[in-house]
Amino acid sequence: MRMIKIIFISIALTFMFNSITFAAPHWTHEEQSTWGAIQDPSQTVVPLNYPFAECSIGTHQSPVDLAAAQIDNSKKLNELEVWYDVDIAPIFNNTGHAVQVNTSSGYTGELKIGEESFPLIQLHFHEPSEHVVGNTRFPAELHYVHIGNDGRIIVLAVAVNIGEENTTFQTILDNTPHQEGQNPNTGIQINPASLLPPMHHNRPDFYTLAGSLTTPPCSEGVQWYLLSEAITISAAQLEQLKGFYTNNARSPQNLNGRAVLSTK
Ligand SMILES: [Zn+2]
Repeated sequence: MRMIKIIFISIALTFMFNSITFAAPHWTHEEQSTWGAIQDPSQTVVPLNYPFAECSIGTHQSPVDLAAAQIDNSKKLNELEVWYDVDIAPIFNNTGHAVQVNTSSGYTGELKIGEESFPLIQLHFHEPSEHVVGNTRFPAELHYVHIGNDGRIIVLAVAVNIGEENTTFQTILDNTPHQEGQNPNTGIQINPASLLPPMHHNRPDFYTLAGSLTTPPCSEGVQWYLLSEAITISAAQLEQLKGFYTNNARSPQNLNGRAVLSTK
């Protein structure tokens, strides 16, 4: 009996220990100015006990204000080619911070940059936009997140204005759980390309710069591609998006002399 009790306690402790060790600290957009100071109580050694330190001390953080940037359109840039197709089993995901769609494991859609290909892993929305142009903040912003086979992260960002409704966005809104969690196996297909602006010859104009994830841990080494052209959703769709999350946008970060390159 005593042995059983000991085994039971040790299993319980292991379970507790694992959940403490591996759970990332909680964070919210309201406290974004202090993300870097959030501590992980399971870690006692600097810098491991400050898992989001890069949010504060990074020098290539995202998003940014394009109006504050020196924009260089003199360089010949690799062209973007968006090769997204239909995903037959997308996972509609409420992350606790955003409305997101994870592509299914067999999904083949990708972004080509020059000769390199980056598979599309997920797309999600911020309200209002994270990237701004001076005093202009768009009603929302769409991020397509790609991860290359070498681990490089590429984000394609699209500004969202109010206008015509977008039917694919409606499908996403209608299938995302209202509580944090995932809704897989809906049998519903979506084509991520149908959230893009109409593209002439599939080679859109863009701005590009080095940046970071815009949520903790704010890891740098992310290359951003911001499309010049916006998409639209309806006012009612924006309200529905706000019903999930509102103000889930990080403020513009210091450019620290970063170059922003542009195709035009
Ligand atoms: Zn994002």
